[in-house]
Amino acid sequence: MQNFEFKNPTKIIFGKDQLDKLATEIPAGAKILMTFGGGSIKKTGIYDKVKLALKDFELVEYGGIPANPVYEGLLDAVKIIKEQNITYMLAVGGGSVIDATKFLASAAYFDGDHPWDILAKRKRTDKGLPFGTVLTIPATGSESNSGAVISNKATGEKLGMGGPGLFPQFSILDPTVITTLPERQLANGITDAFTHVLEQYLTYPVGAILQDRFAESIMQTLVEVAPKVMKDPTDYEAASNFMWSCTMALNGLIQKGVPSDWAVHAMGHELTAMYGIDHARTLAIVAGSHYRYNFENKKEKLAQYGERIWGIQDGSLEEKAQQAIEKTEAFFHSLGIATKLSEYTEDYSNTAAEIAKRFTDRGWLGLGERQDLKPADVEKIVEMAY
Ligand code: NAP
Ligand code: FE
Repeated sequence: MQNFEFKNPTKIIFGKDQLDKLATEIPAGAKILMTFGGGSIKKTGIYDKVKLALKDFELVEYGGIPANPVYEGLLDAVKIIKEQNITYMLAVGGGSVIDATKFLASAAYFDGDHPWDILAKRKRTDKGLPFGTVLTIPATGSESNSGAVISNKATGEKLGMGGPGLFPQFSILDPTVITTLPERQLANGITDAFTHVLEQYLTYPVGAILQDRFAESIMQTLVEVAPKVMKDPTDYEAASNFMWSCTMALNGLIQKGVPSDWAVHAMGHELTAMYGIDHARTLAIVAGSHYRYNFENKKEKLAQYGERIWGIQDGSLEEKAQQAIEKTEAFFHSLGIATKLSEYTEDYSNTAAEIAKRFTDRGWLGLGERQDLKPADVEKIVEMAY
């Protein structure tokens, strides 16, 4: 196992009917900016419940954050925070609203004219405006980690940011929120969380036995509950295991002591930036070809994954590893998620070259757990995903 430090300061409040705890989690006298998305929380009733729980606080609302939050749109909110002396934020939504709130937390203390530099120049955020979250969709793990992904309309980019100052102080996780999610978002959540585990698990072995089994238990749980969640989101047992799996998939725990890859996400973000494809679906597009292209480096772990998650017992190590990739794609298909770029857009012929060019321009010359994937490799992987 590799050396590591682990600290996750986010307090998780998990279960049904926990919103009345909001008032005790937020410091008395705080002036709160409540952030939310395009309106689902008003339809589901979560908005009214949050407002009621916060009736004794001074509250400013900032709604309309789109899926895949956009930098330019968020500059208004940075102004509100500064002009109205906001001291705390509450994100009510999914990964998009939480990521947007993390950007605001960082931008609130950013010393400079262009907060986009936080992303473009990869500035780590050590201190951010404090915030909590009320999660409305299990998927990203953003409710319990310190990362965020933000899009820039002008440059057509989607970039990551993060730092220890961006952990939510608390997150309220009520599994019953999934009852109002459309199938598309349920499938996205399962796929995103599953791929988060793959990114931290399908790497070269370092003898991290417990870490492997943590990762495998999350994947096994997702595979087990996925059909139940898709069939009946009111199944509380399935919903609660689904939600907790998504949080555990990306709260830092399983990535400690092991190498992590994240190349699938790096390529996937470009597909969202270029075509607006849902985040999880971009991962499903890239994952299979990434694992096929890097087969030699990853085959040992792929075979272990095949044996332990998909019960593949017969064949050589290589055959098991191959079958494991096929099983992964079949899992995504079972959720109604297509795994080829051509199934999402007709205009894909230049995609691979464009992504390779972007990576070159940004100086991203070595991706993956060995940092050896060059833009030319990325081009081939994306081409394989057409
Ligand atoms: P999302 O983009 O936050 O939400 C997707 C859609 O679901 C929105 O249209 C939203 O509608 C709707 N929705 C949310 N909760 C609902 C509910 N309870 N009932 C009905 N509809 C609901 O989805 P997400 O998958 O959680 O987040 C994706 C974003 O997170 C991407 O930008 C991705 O890159 C990023 N991400 C972040 C991390 C991280 O660690 N920080 C990791 C992976 C991905 P409304 O807008 O109307 O609310
Ligand atoms: Fe993701």
